[in-house]
Amino acid sequence: MTRIGILSDVHANLEALDSVLADIEQQRCDLLVCLGDFVGYGPDPIECVARLRGRLRTAVAGNHDRAAVGGRPIDDFNLFAQEAIVWTQAHLDAATRDYLSGLPERDEVEGALLVHGSPLRPVDEYIGDAKTARASFVAHPFRIAFVGHTHVPAMFEEVGHRVRLAEWLPGIPKPLRSDHRYIINVGSVGQPRDSNRDAAYVTFDVAEPSVTLHRVPYDILATQRKMEAAMLPVPLRERLALGR
Ligand code: ZN
Repeated sequence: MTRIGILSDVHANLEALDSVLADIEQQRCDLLVCLGDFVGYGPDPIECVARLRGRLRTAVAGNHDRAAVGGRPIDDFNLFAQEAIVWTQAHLDAATRDYLSGLPERDEVEGALLVHGSPLRPVDEYIGDAKTARASFVAHPFRIAFVGHTHVPAMFEEVGHRVRLAEWLPGIPKPLRSDHRYIINVGSVGQPRDSNRDAAYVTFDVAEPSVTLHRVPYDILATQRKMEAAMLPVPLRERLALGR
């Protein structure tokens, strides 16, 4: 029985990533995928990419990954994000830049679609409500899509022609029905924004399909100290402790 670990939005937060990787070890995943935004905001972009690239079956590009390698304009990011992107651009090495530049917009694992933003607009669209999710269900024939980007774990479920936000509690496997379709946001490893400061990731059991949301505490203070030393914007540092 295949179990897939799915993580997203690491955002150069090495302490959060290492805590998640240790937790994933306990979950006995057969393979691991990443939904983008390896970098941006945090102080360890090279180290985070280095930790992950050899372990991942596949990964897709996030908007911050694209921006960090000059593959996308940065003027629609907020000012703090822009400042962090400029910092990241100056702190990447050639190997990391090459890896990020080569990430595709979409991929698949075990029949599930993988994108950073949405099936409709893979790199940039935020799916924050059922109406936005519905546009992606209508536009593409996937049965299960995994997304990140909002940093808020969520499960959108299409039942007939209705799309609803499903109840999904951490730590409890949620069965996926074969007659429903799903867009599943796995949350963020490195900068959670759902008022829970613990890192988030998901395991997906393929045979009798179910997904489980995991939350993992990590050493937030250590990351904040590094961000302070790197002179990254103060609000980016403070929000880690608040989880929003
Ligand atoms: Zn992100």
